[in-house]
Amino acid sequence: MYVVATPIGNLGDISLRALETLRGVDLVACEDTRHARQLLDHHGIKLPTLALHQHNENEAAAKLVHLLGEGRRVALVSDAGTPGISDPGARAVAAVRAAGFRVIPLPGPNAAIAALSAAGLADSRFLFVGFLPARVGARRTAIQELAAIDAALVFYEAPHRVMETVAELVELLEPQRTLVVARELTKLFEQIASMPLAQAPAWLAADANRQRGEFVLVVSAPPPREGMDAETERVLAALLAELPVKQAAKLAAEITGQPKNALYARALELKGG
Ligand code: SAM
Repeated sequence: MYVVATPIGNLGDISLRALETLRGVDLVACEDTRHARQLLDHHGIKLPTLALHQHNENEAAAKLVHLLGEGRRVALVSDAGTPGISDPGARAVAAVRAAGFRVIPLPGPNAAIAALSAAGLADSRFLFVGFLPARVGARRTAIQELAAIDAALVFYEAPHRVMETVAELVELLEPQRTLVVARELTKLFEQIASMPLAQAPAWLAADANRQRGEFVLVVSAPPPREGMDAETERVLAALLAELPVKQAAKLAAEITGQPKNALYARALELKGG
C-alpha cells in the first residue's frame, strides 16, 4: 500500500512520484471521496475510491487488506498533506503491515514541516503537538504539560479557536517566547508572522483576516532557566515529597513568589520526569 502525501493548498505541490503512483494503482483509499475525486480529476486520473475516515477506519482497513490479498495495488491519501498526521491512516497502516503487506510512504506536503521550514527559529528540536483538546480544562492541562519541554512546539489550530488558544499560550507559557503564526500555507493569502507571544493577541485582533483560514502555530523553546535559589529548591522538594507535581509547583510559587512554570519544570526534573 502506498501512503501518498497530497497538497495542503497549492495543487502544484504534488510530487512526480505521487502522480506516477496514483496512475499505477487500482484503488485509492481516501478520507473524503469527493475531495479525492477533485484531485484525481485535476490530473485526469480515473480510479475507484474507498472511503476511509475516522469513523470507519477499522472496517475500511479490513477491506484494504482483503483487496491487497487479491493482488490489487492500493494508495492511501487524506484530504490534505500527509496521511496519519492529524489525519486518519495510522490504523490502516498498522492493519496492512500486520497482514504482511508492504507499506510504502511517498513523502510530500505537511503543514507542520512547511511552517517550521519558514519559521526561522534557532531551536534544534521541535515537538509536533497537532490539535490541542477542544475542552478548556483539558487544553490548559495539555499546555501546562508542554511548558517545560526544551523544544519548539508545533500546533494545528482551527480559525474559530485560534484567539482562545493563543490567549492560553500567553498565560501559561513564558510570554517572551516567539510565536510564529503560519496561515494559509501555499495558498493565495499565505501569511507567516513572528512575534513575542505576549504581542500575539493584539496582532490577531488588529485585522479580522488574521483569524481566518488554516493555521499552524509554532512556539519557540523556553528561555534558559535561571538557577533556582537554595530556599526555593528546599520548599519545592518538601512539597514534592507530599504532593503531586502540579500542586507542589503551584504552592511553591505562592510561597516563594517564583514563576510557576519554572517551578513546574524543576519539579518534573526532581521527579525524574
Ligand atoms: N495531514 C495534514 C498535514 O500533513 O499537515 C494535516 C491535516 S489536519 C486535519 C488539518 C490542519 O492542518 C488544519 O486545521 C491546520 O491547522 C493545518 N493545515 C493544513 N493545511 C494548512 C495550510 N495550508 N496552512 C496552514 N495550516 C494548514
